[in-house]
Amino acid sequence: MITIFTCTTCKRRKAVFFRRASGEKLCPNCFIKGFLRSIQKTISKYEMLTPWDNIVVFFDPYIPYLSIGLMLALGIIESKFNTKMYALVPSTFNKGNLKVLDEIKSLSKYKEVNILTPNVEFKCLNDNFIKIFQEILKYISSSLKVYNLKNLKVALPYTIELLTYAHLSLWLNNMYKLLKFILPKFNTDDGTEYIYPFYGTFSNEILYFNYLNKVYRIHLSPCGRLINVQGDAIYQMVNDVALHNIELLYANLIAAKELLESNSHTISS
Ligand SMILES: [Zn+2]
Repeated sequence: MITIFTCTTCKRRKAVFFRRASGEKLCPNCFIKGFLRSIQKTISKYEMLTPWDNIVVFFDPYIPYLSIGLMLALGIIESKFNTKMYALVPSTFNKGNLKVLDEIKSLSKYKEVNILTPNVEFKCLNDNFIKIFQEILKYISSSLKVYNLKNLKVALPYTIELLTYAHLSLWLNNMYKLLKFILPKFNTDDGTEYIYPFYGTFSNEILYFNYLNKVYRIHLSPCGRLINVQGDAIYQMVNDVALHNIELLYANLIAAKELLESNSHTISS
C-alpha cells in the first residue's frame, strides 16, 4: 500500500516533495513559497543586493539547468524591486540545438531580462573544478567590461553541494588564498562583485522548482560535466554527506565562512 502524505505546511494538499534538511513534506504551492522565501532570506542575510543593482545572472555552460533556475527564481523575487536583470550567456550556448536564448526570453515573464551575448570566447575545459571556476571568473570579468554597468552584481548558480565541494578541495590542496571565493559574496581584484543566491539551496530543490515551472526540457551542458563525478573522491564524499546528513553540509559551509572572517588578516597576508 502506498502512503499518501499531507503537506506539513498547509495540512491540506497532498505532499509531493520531501525536504530532507527540515523534514518537511510539501505540496507544490508550499514548496515554491518556501523555496523563494529561503533564497530571499539568503539575499537579505548576507546583504547581497541593493534596490538599484544591475544583476547579471551568469549562464554557466557546465550547469545550464541550475543557471535557468537561478534566473527564474531571481526574476520572481526581484519583480517587486527596481533592480535590472541581465543574463550573461556565453557563445558556447549558440552551438548545436540548445535554444537557450529562446528559453530565457520565455522565462522573462516575471521581470524583463536583457540578454548579454559578449564577443569573448568561452573555452570548455576538461580540468578540475577550481581551475574551471577561475577561468569562469576571468571570462565574466572580461565579458562585462564592454557593457560598463554600474552597481553591478554577478549572481553565480552554485549550490550548497558545489560550494562545500569547492571549500573542501581548496583546504585539501592548501589553496587558502582562494577561500574567499566560497563566501556568500566576494569581490575580485578588478572590483567586480559576485553573489551566491543559492548559498542555502540544494540542487534537487532547484531541479524540482524548474519542473514545477515547466522547464522540463533536458538541458544538455555544452561543456560536459563541471565535476568528474566518478573520479572525484571529495565530490563523492560531499554527496554521501548530503544524502545522510544535510545539516552537516550546511554547518560545514557556515563554519568555513566564520573561520575565514575571523582569520581574514592571516589568510590574506
Ligand atoms: Zn501545502
